[in-house]
Amino acid sequence: MRLPLRELKWLRKAAADANRPLDALVRRRQQGEPLQYIIGTQPFGPLELSVRPPILIPRPETEHWVIELAARIPESARHLLDLGTGSGCIPLLLAHLCPALSAHAVDVNPAAVTLATENAARCSVTRFRAFQANFLDPDFHVHAMLCPPYDVLTSNPPYIPWNEYLELPDEVKNYEDPRALFGGPSGLEFYHAIARLAVRERFLSSDAIIALEVGHDQAEAVGAIFESVSLRTEAWTDPWGKKRTIIAYRGT
Ligand code: GLN
Repeated sequence: MRLPLRELKWLRKAAADANRPLDALVRRRQQGEPLQYIIGTQPFGPLELSVRPPILIPRPETEHWVIELAARIPESARHLLDLGTGSGCIPLLLAHLCPALSAHAVDVNPAAVTLATENAARCSVTRFRAFQANFLDPDFHVHAMLCPPYDVLTSNPPYIPWNEYLELPDEVKNYEDPRALFGGPSGLEFYHAIARLAVRERFLSSDAIIALEVGHDQAEAVGAIFESVSLRTEAWTDPWGKKRTIIAYRGT
């Protein structure tokens, strides 16, 4: 397989920067490994994050809504919680863009917690703490490291339903953690858990904002989950015309 010239350029730079043999990097790419894992970094807004398998590579659609959200977070907001943080891309960019915010981030995979912590240091975000926890756990809300109430709750949870998971390109399926992608048979399991948390007594502040990435055809279903617990919702469209983000508000 011949690699596109622009990929070759990136690989040449990565080889030179780290003193690695170019042909080994090219071979990995030819075998289908995502370019970002081979290079080891991915830009996310103004940040440059470390990435490594199997932690989900930050996507451009995520970058887009996070930057939009940063502009809407009120200056009074202080505490943010990100659920299923992966590389830490969402809370790190928000903490970087909103200096009054301090962020907590959880992930079920300890390797993600390590990577997010490394990325905080790499990006000089000091108001950040990541820890291992499973937010599907019924006792998650009493986890000792949490510090509710939170003013901002964010998540790009696993949302791919089973039938779509089987059809994912090998580049995704063979390298990225299924725990970051597969959202249960319907793809909606994690949103139900987040909605239960969002309305739990004193978990969020009374005017908290909740921002969730959703799959390409899930905006209506996810909006309905949050409206069923009496939250007001709106959907944001990504640059490719998909309703990609559900925003839910606790206040009126
Ligand atoms: N956007 C990712 C993909 O298309 C899925 C991420 C997720 O499930 N949250 O592979």
